[in-house]
Amino acid sequence: MKIVLVNSFVNRFTERDDCCHGFVREKHFPCNLGLLAGLLKEENDVIIVDGNALELSAEKIREIIKEFNPDVLITNSTFETIEVDSEIVSGLDCKKICLFYPYISISSLKEKFKNFDYVPYGLEKELTIQEIIKGNDKPKGCYTWEDGNLVKTSPRKNSRIIDYLQKTPYEMFPMKLYDRFFVRSSSGCPFSCTFCEMARSGWIPRDVKTVVDELEILRKMYNVREVTFYDPEISINQAHIEDLCNEIIDRKLKICWHANTRADRINEELVRKMSMSGCIRLAFGVEAWDDFIRNEIVKKMITRDQIIKAVEVCKKHGVIPVVYMIFGLPMDNGVSIMEDIKAVWEMGTPQFSFNIISPIPGTEIFDWYSRRRMLCNYSDKPVCGRNEDLDINELVNYRKLAYSIMKPKSLVESLMLLKNVKLINKLLTNDLGITMFKRLLRRLVS
Ligand code: SF4
Repeated sequence: MKIVLVNSFVNRFTERDDCCHGFVREKHFPCNLGLLAGLLKEENDVIIVDGNALELSAEKIREIIKEFNPDVLITNSTFETIEVDSEIVSGLDCKKICLFYPYISISSLKEKFKNFDYVPYGLEKELTIQEIIKGNDKPKGCYTWEDGNLVKTSPRKNSRIIDYLQKTPYEMFPMKLYDRFFVRSSSGCPFSCTFCEMARSGWIPRDVKTVVDELEILRKMYNVREVTFYDPEISINQAHIEDLCNEIIDRKLKICWHANTRADRINEELVRKMSMSGCIRLAFGVEAWDDFIRNEIVKKMITRDQIIKAVEVCKKHGVIPVVYMIFGLPMDNGVSIMEDIKAVWEMGTPQFSFNIISPIPGTEIFDWYSRRRMLCNYSDKPVCGRNEDLDINELVNYRKLAYSIMKPKSLVESLMLLKNVKLINKLLTNDLGITMFKRLLRRLVS
């Protein structure tokens, strides 16, 4: 079969909130597409069109697709790009057109499926796509059409391990164009945060050796010195993260890594090991300092003590702790937002992120805002939340205030990191010293 995989972020780089310096524009390596390409390429003729990295217009992408004349077309989409993807695939003469959507909460976007023959759902969409390509017209775990009606086939039972996703074929991608590299060591999350599209999706690990093979290829063949794990939370399973760290340490791999994690899923011994394996940054979703908002509304189920301890342990072992806060959650108000800012100040994290809630369709929080007609547009984000106490302008102003208060503190905390022998050693050993120094300099002059 001839297959085209399209990265859908058309004419738009991924924008990342650089903690206290606004948005930076980056081209991210699409690791999900990479893993899918690895699965399909052995038995098929596969090409990748990364419209984001190559800065291609939708029209140009259509031209490339037409020229290749594929049997199967797969778009790597998000809820922000699904409309453009739909335009790209519209009227194309392919036998099968699939929407590859990395998140779980796809059902709420059903009205946008009309130009796609198949929309896999669940954690193992790659397997569903593989079955479709092999000729199964009604595989488990997907939406498809029957007599003009959209039907949902029965869910796929999660595998115990994702051993079918082998090494990413990096040679198929324009590797020189990416600013940031992602690697996936597991999929899904069993926790229940009400704003999160991954909530209650289960958890499946990849084979640790294959993951570290990818790190090794990135380091040795493409001189990548820093990667981010794409896992929703890196330390959901203690044995998995320990194995991952041990494998990196055993291979003496000189690569630094970042990841998201939960404050209740780490301990001092684990952070020590993570640090030894090259971890330089762990980000904790705190979301709100107010216990009721954090644990009753968001259902984060983490205590303040766990958060404080996690930040302390990271600092002690040369890992930069980052905390994420969300403004505008249900019941949030000026007082609770000031508590958020104060907590971040007191913990002294060198990096942090204050975001305005951007409810994702299909999540519990989205329904909350939607029922109350409290969704609105802000900047380039199609949906943003507000609540009874705070309108969107007030939220924007609180966000600005948070950064203006925290920016000087962040500089002080960043400079303090220079005293951290473990961190400096790690950066120098892994050839990241100059990069980090440049970042610090950028902070000082911005
Ligand atoms: S926010 Fe993190 S812990 Fe909560 S459900 Fe999502 S991935 Fe899991």
